[in-house]
Formats: sequence, C-alpha cells, structure tokens
Amino acid sequence: MKTEVCDVVVVGFGNAAQAAAFAAYQAGAKVIIIEKAPENKRGGNTWHSHGAQFRHCHNGIADEKPLLPHVPESEWAKIKIEPYTQDDFYADLMRVTRGRSIPELAEMLVRESYPTVRWMRESGVEFDILYGGAVPDKEGNFRWHHGASFIHSKDGGAGLVTGWHRVLKKHNIDIRFETGAAKLVTDEKGGVTGLVCLTPDGYIQINCKSVVLACGGFQANPAMRVQYLGAGWDVAKCRGSSYDTGDGHIIAQEIGAQVVGHWGGAHATPIDADAGEYEGGFLDPETRRHRTHRYAWTWGIMVNTLGKRFIDEGEDFHAYTYAKTGQEIVKQPSAVAYQVFDQKMMEAVGRQKYSGCVEVKADTLKELAEQLEINVDGFLQTVEEYNAGCLNDRPFNEVTRDGLATKGVTPPKTNWATKIDKGPFVAYACTGGLTFTFGGLRVDPNCQVLNKLNRPIRGLYAAGEITGGFFYYNYPSGSGLTRGAVTGRVAGRSAAA
Ligand SMILES: Cc1cc2nc3c(=O)[nH]c(=O)nc-3n(C[C@H](O)[C@H](O)[C@H](O)COP(=O)(O)OP(=O)(O)OC[C@H]3O[C@@H](n4cnc5c(N)ncnc54)[C@H](O)[C@@H]3O)c2cc1C
Repeated sequence: MKTEVCDVVVVGFGNAAQAAAFAAYQAGAKVIIIEKAPENKRGGNTWHSHGAQFRHCHNGIADEKPLLPHVPESEWAKIKIEPYTQDDFYADLMRVTRGRSIPELAEMLVRESYPTVRWMRESGVEFDILYGGAVPDKEGNFRWHHGASFIHSKDGGAGLVTGWHRVLKKHNIDIRFETGAAKLVTDEKGGVTGLVCLTPDGYIQINCKSVVLACGGFQANPAMRVQYLGAGWDVAKCRGSSYDTGDGHIIAQEIGAQVVGHWGGAHATPIDADAGEYEGGFLDPETRRHRTHRYAWTWGIMVNTLGKRFIDEGEDFHAYTYAKTGQEIVKQPSAVAYQVFDQKMMEAVGRQKYSGCVEVKADTLKELAEQLEINVDGFLQTVEEYNAGCLNDRPFNEVTRDGLATKGVTPPKTNWATKIDKGPFVAYACTGGLTFTFGGLRVDPNCQVLNKLNRPIRGLYAAGEITGGFFYYNYPSGSGLTRGAVTGRVAGRSAAA
C-alpha cells in the first residue's frame, strides 16, 4: 500500500474539519485534509446550512463590531440587541437539553464561542448580520428576541465552506477529495499512528502523529438511523449531506473509543413535505433555491392527517423548539403535518420566507381541510375547540414570550395563541427533516477521544457533529456551527501540540 507521512490528518471538509485544519496549521503542523466527497459535493452539512447562524456570547454591539467590520455606523444605529452572556447561553443549553449536556463540554462551547468567532473573522471567514431573525419596528429599527442568533456566515453555509477553503488554499494546506477514512492504525499501546484511506485508486496509508475525526454524524446512514433512532427513521428525509454516514463513529469504536450522548436522539425540524431524500434543506439544492424550513408554526396551529393538534405550538420561540419538533412530526401518521394560519398572522409568516412551496388557500376551514385531504370533521372540531380556548387577554407580541395562551385545550398553546378565524385560511404541508444525530464519541476538553478506561487515546481527536454529549433531546439554534468551530479549533491545536 502506498504510504505518506504528515503530522495531522483531518478527516472531513465541513466547518469543524476546516477549523481543525487551520488551527493545527497555525500551531505549526504539516496537515493533510481528506474529504470523502468529490470537490463539488464538499462541505458536508456545513454547505447545506442555509441559515448558517453562529450562536455566541456577547456584550452587545461593541462585541459584534469586530465580527462585522464592513457594517457602517449608520446601520449599527438601527440595531437593538441585548447582551447574551455566558450564563445565558449555558442556561439555554441546559434548559433545552433537560440538564443533560455534559458540563465540561457545555462550558467549553459557551466559553469559547465568542473567542472562536473572533478567530474565524481574523482568519478570513466573513460574517453578516442575520436580519432574517429580526423584527422591524415602526421607527425603522431592528429587534432580535433575547437569545436569537445575530450573525451568520456570509453567503450561508456554502459561503462558509468556500471562505474556509480560500483560507486553507492561501496557506497551501493539502486537501484531498474523494478520499475516505477507512481504518485507524494503532501501535501496541493503542495509540493512533496513522489512517488507511480509500481513494479512487485503492487504499493508501497516511502515517501521522494525530488524526482529527471531523466527519459528521450518522444521519445519512439508514441502517444506523433505524438501529439507533428507531423505527421509521430509515425512511426519514435528511436536510443535509448524503456523505455523513457515521464512518468516524465506526472506525473509532473499532479501536476502543468510548461513545456517549443521546444516540437515540437527533436534531430534526419541520421541513417542506416535498423536500428530497437527501440535501433536503432546499427544494432545489443545486442552485440553493427555496429553503425548505417551515418555522412559522408558532403563529398558527399544526395538525396531522386526522385533523388533530399534537404539540404546544407556542411552547417557546422556534429557536428553542424547532430541533425537537421534526421528531414529533415523524411520529404522526405518514410522517406529515399541516401548518395552518389565518390572515391575521400572514405578515409574520411571510418573514419566514416559505418561497417556492405549495400553498393551500381556502375561504373556509372546511374547504381548506378538503383541499388538504385530511379528516374534515376532525379538523373542524380541533379549530372550534382551539378557538374557544384562546384567552385573548393580552396583545400578541412576536418578540417576547407574550403569554397569550389557551385554556382548557389539549395540548395547550402557551404563547401567541390567536384564533384561526379570519379567512382566507392558508396551510403548508411539512414533514420532519433530520439534520444531524446527537450520539457520538466521548471527548475531553482538549477534544481528545477517550477510551473505555476514561483515558485519552493518544493521537485521536474529534470535532463537530461526531462528538457526543453536547446535545440531548433538543438544541438551541445556531449551536451546531459554533460547536464545530469551537471543537475544531481546540482539536486542531491539541492534535498539533
Ligand atoms: C439544512 C441545514 C441547516 C442548518 N443550519 C444551521 C445553522 O443555521 N446554524 C448552525 O449552527 N447549524 C446549522 N446546521 C447544522 C450544521 O450544519 C452542522 O451542525 C455542522 O455543519 C456540522 O459540521 P461538521 O463539520 O461537524 O460536519 P459536516 O459539515 O457534515 O462535515 C463532515 C464532512 O465529513 C465528510 N466525511 C464523511 N465521512 C467521511 C470519511 N469516511 N472520510 C472523509 N470524509 C468524510 C463529509 O463529506 C463532510 O464533508 C444546519 C444543517 C442543515 C443540514
């Protein structure tokens, strides 16, 4: 077998791998990056991240300015954001994960979030203000709800992959496409000394001091999906790359790596029912047109084919519930749900940009149900009960948890509960789109993978979606890319040390 030598091999070419490779390079290592996909499919889920939001701690505008040096003062004058402290981020992470996020990992993510986005900007990755998360006010200012992500990478996930690629090329870092990690090579003490890779010309072995596994979750592997997530998940749609097939999970376990986290859980969101089997983040993935996210349900109700509601649509801002709501939809008959709105809410719904999708519209609720081909009586009864339960005791407010709730309705709606009574009525069909899996490898705060004796495996590091223990049950929006960048930077530095 052909052999080569370097200091650090980085596996993958998404945000986590790119951050790891650059951090290892900055620490003086000779780096080879291997990516299983061909160049035109590079970048994994990172490429598919349309929002490409980066959740991070900040003390307000003064901290944001260095991330966005191109934004003029006149624009900053219209921006109204509250500080998002380390305590806020930690509390949000723990709240949505039901207190299960491993504290030392959660602390790393929170503590390093701001220094890491600063480092990315200083390294050459560009950000923009995420106006999609803002609500304009009458004075022409823009307001974000507390905890909403404020920045995203320029030109979305594709821009992020391309931006990192430009940085890596500028520093002549060796990148190999169509090269997949196949087997870790170890010495007699169990330390990693190399990696066998599959290339179009057969296998090669790269001998090295360290390997960083940053090759994504197992969401694109139907066999692992049904094994770990359960029945029905083998046929669920994936929002991202078809190359994230859990290879890193498998080869690391073959050499005794410890696994951790919510292997039965995943990030899954409401997406358009017409999304593709893979790359389902866009109705047209090739041109990145027509995002499939369906995140406006908090302004209306969501029913299944029986016409029944099945969640509290107003539990919280979608940023804190969207990642678990897809799982609830997958549990419904045919894994389909319908988001239903009346005209009062269409301005707020419009901000979610449901472009390119099939909109079903009718003057009466009965006609709407008939067009949707759902149970008409069940649906009419649901809306009647829901409307009767709307307390209507305070004003509707998009940027706060307004407490406008229902009473005596199951499930309740806790916020933003307004009657569905002003036609024409509008509905959108959606399904649950799998974004990424939560279960992964156990790493320490250096992002070094632990063995089953809780000891670091010499020469083995992991970053990004492949790491377990960060997210359980649910996830605060914009944390996946931040987790990838934070763990990538830490893993790259540690691997080079
Ligand atoms: C539609 C969509 C929207 C999203 N929006 C956001 C958002 O706004 N904010 C946010 O924080 N997160 C978002 N996410 C989640 C985010 O994309 C991921 O959490 C993050 O990109 C994961 O980065 P990663 O580098 O760990 O994995 P990936 O980006 O998936 O990269 C893994 C790479 O490894 C490669 N690979 C796999 N197996 C092998 C192998 N055997 N050998 C070599 N290479 C291999 C893959 O080809 C891929 O390039 C979104 C995801 C999707 C799908």
